[in-house]
Amino acid sequence: MGTKNFGNIKVDVMTSDEVLTDITNRIENRKKFKLFFLNAHCFNLSQQNKEYATNLNNADYVLNDGIGVEIGAKVLGFSFKENLNGTDLTPRILALAAKNDYKVYLLGAGPGVAEKAAGNFKKQYPNIDIVGIQDGYFKDTEKVIENINNAKPDILIVALGVPYQENWISDYFSKIDAKLFMGVGAFLDFSSE
Ligand code: UDP
Repeated sequence: MGTKNFGNIKVDVMTSDEVLTDITNRIENRKKFKLFFLNAHCFNLSQQNKEYATNLNNADYVLNDGIGVEIGAKVLGFSFKENLNGTDLTPRILALAAKNDYKVYLLGAGPGVAEKAAGNFKKQYPNIDIVGIQDGYFKDTEKVIENINNAKPDILIVALGVPYQENWISDYFSKIDAKLFMGVGAFLDFSSE
């Protein structure tokens, strides 16, 4: 796995198959790890938000999302192997979860949205084990963390928007009993339709 400096942000250069193999190995080995996506808008935000930039650089994976960062890489003198946008990769991670019996927890989006998304995921991946759902407009963070820890997901899908989701994951990573923590932006909104 190669890492390149995209300005001051370290980004991985991988294929989607390599990402899925790595994720499987880490989950099987009971590792905790963070996966974030970086599109051009995220990069711009990271230049104004130091906390977000630091959290990106402390993640286990920062994956290139979209044409903006692809063009940026060309300007910087390197190429990504594949566009690893969250919209395409997250469903493949859910399919992997269904195949390997990884427990999934959905956190984020408006009330009722993740429930609708979960209904669609169950149609698409009948074996998927969704062990918890929490909307993204909660007040009692400690309670939310307690609920997640009781459910013990292998995969925590966090849809709170950039950069809140990356900062939230990084702030509570050590307190939460999950393996793969990933930020997915508006993915639950798309998936609820
Ligand atoms: N969101 C949330 N809690 C908040 C703020 C946002 O759950 O306090 C959700 C919002 O409902 C939406 C997602 O976060 O489902 C982010 O959407 P956006 O289009 O902003 O995502 P991004 O630009 O990060 O892809």
